[in-house]
Amino acid sequence: MKILVCIKQVPDAKDIQWTENNTMKREGVESVINPCDLYALETALDIKKKFDDAQIYAISMGPNQAEKALKETIALGCDEAYLLCDKKFSGSDTLATGLTLSAGIKKIMPDFDLILCGQYASDGDTAQTGVGIAQNLNCNQITYVLEITEITDNYVVAKKDNQNNFEYIKSPLPAVLCVMENKTKELSIATILGQMRAQDSKIKVLTIEDIGLSDEQCGIKGSPTYVSKVFRPIHTRKCEVIDNDKAVDFSQNLVNEVRN
Ligand code: FAD
Repeated sequence: MKILVCIKQVPDAKDIQWTENNTMKREGVESVINPCDLYALETALDIKKKFDDAQIYAISMGPNQAEKALKETIALGCDEAYLLCDKKFSGSDTLATGLTLSAGIKKIMPDFDLILCGQYASDGDTAQTGVGIAQNLNCNQITYVLEITEITDNYVVAKKDNQNNFEYIKSPLPAVLCVMENKTKELSIATILGQMRAQDSKIKVLTIEDIGLSDEQCGIKGSPTYVSKVFRPIHTRKCEVIDNDKAVDFSQNLVNEVRN
């Protein structure tokens, strides 16, 4: 069983800072693995418990500092980790990010069985990257996955959160799964042995040439979308909290107000 986990490094939600242009400050801010990606990784580690021959590779596209996140994945049990890092990747929108990750995946694990992404990244939050990868690699995809309930060498069954109900989706392998945070699941903690392995490990860095993409496909040149404005919303709505004992009077007044 060959599994790839997509890992995005994001600013720690506890330490969000803003620049004077109202963009998110990324330099000098504590970074962590995107929360959904930790659940994607946990899903892979669960599979490894069932398949002795399972191999888990982590992949990330980002600056050099993303090596820290990838080392953490090794400490938690990934076999290898790859960083797609090149100045030409910077300024990528979701289309270019999905294409770059797909090219990286084709290079490092072309015969994968399963790609596990987070459902969304806590900073960009478009939820487009995973489905983009599935499209690029011509693969089945299951989104909003809470857990895998069954997996064999040929197919996977995943429990999907539909907000009002759950669905169990069966898909042949290979497939791409976009995994949600699942608070009923406990995340693994790195063992001392795992941390030592991570310290000794070398993250393999791949550039644009290594993954065989052209300048036109990556970064700003490969990104048809652009950010026209970044701003923080100003909340003008006023909110009033009504005590239970005043709620009936209040709703009657509100009805009168609307009628008039
Ligand atoms: P989602 O699609 O919500 O993420 C879903 C899942 O996909 C994640 O949980 C993770 O598993 C996987 N994933 C997402 N991104 C990565 C990644 N990089 N590596 C591995 N797995 C990943 N961002 C910058 O940091 N620098 C820039 O210069 C920059 N320029 C941009 C320019 C434009 C015009 C636009 C539109 C966006 C730019 N971005 C930039 C944002 C960047 O495109 C997104 O962060 C990226 O495409 C992922 O989208 P998302 O954050 O919405 O992730």
